[in-house]
Amino acid sequence: MRVAMIGTGYVGLVSGACFADFGHVVTCIDKDPSKIERLERGEIPIFEPGLDDLVARNVREGRLFFTLEGAQAIKDADAVFIAVGTPTRRGDGHADLSYVYAAAEEIAGLIDGFTVVVTKSTVPVGTGDEVEAIIRKTNPNAQFAVVSNPEFLREGAAIEDFKRPDRVVVGTDDERAQAVMRDLYRPLSLNETPIVFTGRRTSELIKYAANAFLAMKITFINEMADLCEKVGADVQSVAKGIGLDKRIGAKFLNAGPGYGGSCFPKDTIALVKTAQQYGAPTRLIETTVEVNTARKKAMAEKVAEAMGTRELTGKTIGVLGVTFKPNTDDMRDAPSLDILPALQAMGAKVQAFDPEGAKEAAHMLAGVEFKSGAYDAAEGADALVILTEWDQFRALDLDRLKSLLKTPVVVDLRNVYKPAEMERHGFTYASIGRG
Ligand code: NAD
Repeated sequence: MRVAMIGTGYVGLVSGACFADFGHVVTCIDKDPSKIERLERGEIPIFEPGLDDLVARNVREGRLFFTLEGAQAIKDADAVFIAVGTPTRRGDGHADLSYVYAAAEEIAGLIDGFTVVVTKSTVPVGTGDEVEAIIRKTNPNAQFAVVSNPEFLREGAAIEDFKRPDRVVVGTDDERAQAVMRDLYRPLSLNETPIVFTGRRTSELIKYAANAFLAMKITFINEMADLCEKVGADVQSVAKGIGLDKRIGAKFLNAGPGYGGSCFPKDTIALVKTAQQYGAPTRLIETTVEVNTARKKAMAEKVAEAMGTRELTGKTIGVLGVTFKPNTDDMRDAPSLDILPALQAMGAKVQAFDPEGAKEAAHMLAGVEFKSGAYDAAEGADALVILTEWDQFRALDLDRLKSLLKTPVVVDLRNVYKPAEMERHGFTYASIGRG
């Protein structure tokens, strides 16, 4: 099959490369010239493990192309995917659909023969109807079906998630479109991936419901962690004790500094807004958003408390990890963007290290000095904060760390280390929910 992918970001590039690897001929289109130039030079504009090899192989084998000018690829395509961003709209919290609608306008005049237009971007209920209306208005004779096919991949494990997903969701009532979608995902039948065929609006809502549920699950265990600290219980054992119950499940029960990233914050808010708009408010998600926002702010206080002072002027704080999770360079809505400025506002000087995120973070975190390694970030600091659980922070030489810190205070917001071990090494150690 021939696929045109509009938007070559975290989702579009991974999906495009994986579809090419399935054997389809894929053209990835982006309006950002620097992105396309880099891809044409064989460079990958984002950090995603395994993506460089996957892209290189499929380019070499003549199945994967990149272009700024997608007209021909769209004309030739059996399926045109819209994988552009849907950030929070300034001012009101709804999803900003301007990129999606612009892509629909671009596609409209180019459709040639029966074409499936697939929204892979996360879009609110009813967006598919609007995309269909835009195309119909511009090109009344076009033969097309608009399908919702939300993406569930996780940055950092995106290729594995795309190739071995828990499920694929396809929203359309059009049988020809269903057949095209089945063909596109046929290689997944080898590992018996369930494909959930449903209505378009239902499919659009499934994506938001999934993200909102996961955000709520994280927020739940975070609140349990706070309670554990007060009552002298251990949140990791609580997570294990409840997670073994199959109705609850063990995943997404790691307490931490609050969720962030390119999806949960914007998608929870957008769902809240949609629900309010339709008069069916989602109170649990409204509260989840509120609790999570407050939590990120409270983390700076937690650091100060561990240091035994609210006055951080003249203090230096080392930070390990600034991306919202390991194995990505994505800085969108990372908790560090709240926590580090809050520490600076309390007077602290912040020096940080992140294996992949520093370049992106440097222009988002004014005044933070970026170091070239974990031990450099610790050197001379009055406290060290572990903010992202990159593998390389999991087995630090604790004696070396202690000798580098001015005062041996470690605030571990990801529960990477064991309290007893840290105490044995002479650290003042604070973590999450281990009372
Ligand atoms: P991104 O910002 O990394 O990529 C979007 C790309 O689209 C950009 O490169 C931009 O230049 C390009 N673009 C915008 N308008 C265009 C147009 N008219 N023509 C060509 N290119 C255009 O965004 P992303 O993280 O890949 O997210 C895309 C969508 O997928 C969002 O709706 C997001 O919510 C959803 N999603 C993201 C993830 C994730 O982990 N990042 C996971 C699941 C779903």
